[in-house]
Amino acid sequence: MLESLPESLTLSDVHSVAIIGAGMSGLACGQQLATQGVKVALFDKARGPGGRMSSKRRPSATLDLGAQAFTVRNQRFANKVAEWQAAGCVASWPTACYQASASGWQTHNDDKLRYTGAPRMSAVTRHLADTLNALPNASMTLETHITRFDKTAAGWQLHDSRGSIHGPFDVVVISAPPPQAKALLAGWEPTLAAACEAKPQRGCWAGWVIFEEPLPPMAKVVSAWHTVHTQHPVLRLASRNHTKPGREHQPESISLLAQLDWSDAHIESDSESVAQQLLAAFVSLLPDDVELPSVIELGAHRWRYAQPAQAGHQTYLYSTSGLALCGDSFKGSRVEDAWLSGDELGQALIVRSV
Ligand SMILES: Cc1cc2nc3c(=O)[nH]c(=O)nc-3n(C[C@H](O)[C@H](O)[C@H](O)COP(=O)(O)OP(=O)(O)OC[C@H]3O[C@@H](n4cnc5c(N)ncnc54)[C@H](O)[C@@H]3O)c2cc1C
Repeated sequence: MLESLPESLTLSDVHSVAIIGAGMSGLACGQQLATQGVKVALFDKARGPGGRMSSKRRPSATLDLGAQAFTVRNQRFANKVAEWQAAGCVASWPTACYQASASGWQTHNDDKLRYTGAPRMSAVTRHLADTLNALPNASMTLETHITRFDKTAAGWQLHDSRGSIHGPFDVVVISAPPPQAKALLAGWEPTLAAACEAKPQRGCWAGWVIFEEPLPPMAKVVSAWHTVHTQHPVLRLASRNHTKPGREHQPESISLLAQLDWSDAHIESDSESVAQQLLAAFVSLLPDDVELPSVIELGAHRWRYAQPAQAGHQTYLYSTSGLALCGDSFKGSRVEDAWLSGDELGQALIVRSV
C-alpha cells in the first residue's frame, strides 16, 4: 500500500477508470482524468451527484443539508472556485453571521471568505457532473449501488445491487467515506481496508424547518442574518437557506445542524424526534418575545458518515493492484480537501499513464 504513486511505477495501461462515488472528490478525480483523455465511468448510489454537498428539494423550498458553505486556502482550489463563480454556480455567502450564547446574539466574524453553491449547494457538483458528461470519454451512472468487485484477466469488474456487471476497468477509484470504502475493499486489499479502518467517522443529524412567514426581527440582530453558531448541547449551527444567493424567493427555511457529540449519541434515533429536538434547541436561542411563525414542514436527515474524527495527513491512497482511494477524510474534513484529494489522485494517475 502506498500513500502516493512511486516514481518507479509505470501505469502504461491506465486507459479506463471506474470511480465509485460522484461527490466532490470523485467528480474532481473524474474531471482530471477525462480531460486528459482517460475513459472514465462514475457510479453513485444516489439519485443525483453531490454526496455530502447535496441539497433537498421540497415543494416550497430547497435546503442544503450537508455543507452549508466552504472556505478556500489552496491557490489551485481558489482558481477552480473562481471558475465556478464565473460559471454562476458559486457565490460568496454568508456575511451576516452570529454566535448565540447565554448573553444573547453577538456578531461572529473570523475574517474568512466563504462560498456557497448558487442557487443551491448541489449546483457546484451538478456543474462538475454536466461538464464531465459533455465529454465523449466520460459517463455517469446514478442510482447504482456498487456492492463488490472482481478482478478478471481483462481488468476490474464492478457488480451492482441489481446484479448488473460494469467494466472491465484498469483502475477502480473509491471516493466513498472510509467505512463504505472498507466494505468494498474486503477480500481484496487488506492494507487499504486497514487505512479506512483507521479513519473513523462522526455522524451528524441535519434538520430543516420551513416557516409560513419570515421570523420576526430581533433587537440588535440584522433582519437578514445568515447563520448563527451556538454552543447549545443539541444544535451547533442554524443556517437560513432563503438568504443564499438565488433563493431569495423561497420562504423562511432553516437548516439545523446538530452537535457532533449529540449526533453520535442519537444516531439511531428516529428522524421525527430528532427534528423536534433540533427545532426546540433553535427556539431556545430566540428571545422570549419572538413569536414563531407557523411551521410548513419539519424534518431531519441522518449523515452516518459526516466527517472524519481526526484530520488526515495524506491526500489519496493507491495500491499497485489498481485500486485507489480518495475523499475528504484523507486530507481533512472539508469541501476543499475533497476536491484536492480527487484532483491530485487524477493527476497522479495521468502522469503515470503516458
Ligand atoms: C452536515 C455536514 C456539514 C458540512 N459542513 C461543511 C462546511 O461547512 N465546510 C466544508 O468545507 N465542508 C463541510 N462538510 C464536508 C463536505 O461536505 C465534504 O468534505 C465533502 O462534500 C466530501 O466529498 P467526498 O466526495 O469526499 O465524499 P461524499 O460527498 O460523501 O461522496 C461520496 C459519494 O459516494 C457515494 N457512494 C458511497 N458508497 C457507494 C457505493 N457503494 N456505490 C455507489 N456510490 C457510493 C455516495 O452516494 C456519495 O455521493 C459538511 C458535511 C456535512 C455532512
